[in-house]
Formats: sequence, structure tokens, C-alpha cells
Amino acid sequence: MKKFDIHTHFGPATASHSIEELYRKLLGDMNNSEVDKFAIMVSGGLGNETCRERLENALWFKEQQLGRVYVFGGLFFEGYDATNLDGYGGKLVAELEELMALGCDGLKILFGKPGLRKALGVSLDDSVLTPLFNKLEETNFPVLWHIADPAEFWDSDPRPVPQWADGKGWTYDDSYPAYELIKAEAENVFNRHPKLNLVLPHFYFMSEDLVAAAEFLERHPNISIDTAPGVEMCHNCSTKVDAAREFFIKYDSRILFGTDCGMDSHTTSLKRSKMVQGWLEEDGDVMVPADDIYMMPDTKDRFNGLNLPEESLRKIYSENFGDFIAG
Ligand SMILES: [Zn+2]
Repeated sequence: MKKFDIHTHFGPATASHSIEELYRKLLGDMNNSEVDKFAIMVSGGLGNETCRERLENALWFKEQQLGRVYVFGGLFFEGYDATNLDGYGGKLVAELEELMALGCDGLKILFGKPGLRKALGVSLDDSVLTPLFNKLEETNFPVLWHIADPAEFWDSDPRPVPQWADGKGWTYDDSYPAYELIKAEAENVFNRHPKLNLVLPHFYFMSEDLVAAAEFLERHPNISIDTAPGVEMCHNCSTKVDAAREFFIKYDSRILFGTDCGMDSHTTSLKRSKMVQGWLEEDGDVMVPADDIYMMPDTKDRFNGLNLPEESLRKIYSENFGDFIAG
């Protein structure tokens, strides 16, 4: 069965790993994980000085592997000043057009993540972003938009931060916009721009309540979600594996296989892709790779596989990817 990964990362080079080494590592990871095609997500600016270099690297990767690799670029946010946004909406559209001209296959948006939403300094439904979303609707350009994070990352949440996330600087005090606020702002954008060709990664952090997740997908027929962990998604689904299986089968045309492999100079486990595949395919225990620093250590070292039928797997692994990229 063909497997396409909609959500991988590449680079940046570090003191100990050149970009060529990271290239071989990502390619080897995808080969060993039996992944045929994959899309590299490049996060944009807003305090990220290296975004242009990262994009260059990703486009170079694509050139080496034409037809196998796709690149989602991020907006540079050049000269951005939240206190003076006159005409900035048009600048963002110009940056989007530049990404298209450079050969990007889609847009990666990260400014829904709490830290970047804070840096943005305006709400996600602010009028400065309207021309951008209009343009994305007009062109049907694929967008993968990270919005919020697991709710338990907020200090205000009554639950403790999960062990796998503890001490990693991923939690949010009240200087960050609240989980509910970010999601409410995004909801306004979805309602205003119902034609966006949009994938929300990490299951849009909805795995805790599959009834609400189903309502969300019914409400927004243009929106799909991906399976990049957020390992809480796998653990949440494990507590109700029959309902989760039913959900995945019912919405199999709205879910895309993604893994986040290669993140942060490829510090993700080389077993991560196979773990996500095992979660989708297998019946019974699937182990979390002990060497994946984004999912471990944790008291929970395994979850229940969803044991999905072939027909659903085919859509989740490749057909939906093709439809998304083709617009
Ligand atoms: Zn990612």
C-alpha cells in the first residue's frame, strides 16, 4: 500500500549535523518506514531568523527528490510590527505569492501555536489576515495550520501536564492566549473562509472528545486533520478504541497520515513513523519508541491499535494526500 506522509520536517543544520547528513537521515527514515512521498513543513518567521534558510534547504531537498517530496513554506513576516499594521495584509499576500513562485506546494502556518499567536499580537481573526485567507481561498492553495496545543499544556487547565511534556518548556501561563480563545478565533476564520483547502495537524487536539470532533468536521466540510502526534491523541483514542475506530472509518476521507518525523534537526525517533502506522493498522498493543524525546518518558508506554480496514487505510495513507495537494 502506498504511504504518503503529509507532515515531516527537515533541518536546520547544527554544529554536529550538516544539512547533507540530515538529508540522508530523513531520506533513510522515510525509506525504512516505507513512506513513498512526503511533505516537508517549513515554519515561517515571527522571531524565527532562519526561516529563509530553512525554506531554501527544503526546496533543495525537493529538487533532489522531485515527485517524491513536497514543500510547505511559511510566511516570513518581514518587517512585522503589531503596532503598525497599515497595509500589512497586502504584504502577507505578496509573501504568499513569493512562496508559490519559489515552488512551494502549500503553506505551513504556525501562528496558531500559543507562543506565536502571542508574538503575532493580534487575534487570528484580525482583519490584517483577511487578504491572506481570501487569497488562499481563491487559489485553493493547500494549507497546514497548527492551531493551539493540547489543552493540558495550559497552567489554567485542572489536569497536570502529562509526563511526556513535563519540563520541556511547553506549558503556558496566563501571559499566553487561552486555549479556548485561540480556538474561538480560529472558528471565526473557518466560518468566514469556508473554502480554505485546509488540514489541521495533530488531530486539532480534539481526541479527548470524539463527539465534539465529529461535530467539528460536520460543521466544516472543507477541513481535514492529520495524525502527527501529540501522543495524547493515541492515548486518548486508546481509552475508547471502538469509538475511535468508528470515528476513523466514518471520517476516513478527512484524516491524513502525518508523523512530524524529522522535527528539530531530526531528533524524533526513527521508529516514529512505524509507530503511527502501527497505531492505524494493528490490533492490540503498539509501543511508544523509548528514544522519542517528544513522547517519552511517560507512565504510558503503549496504546491500542485502531486496526483499520484497508479501504480506510488507503484513503488516510495516500488518497487524501493526493486530493489535498491537487487542491
Ligand atoms: Zn510539525
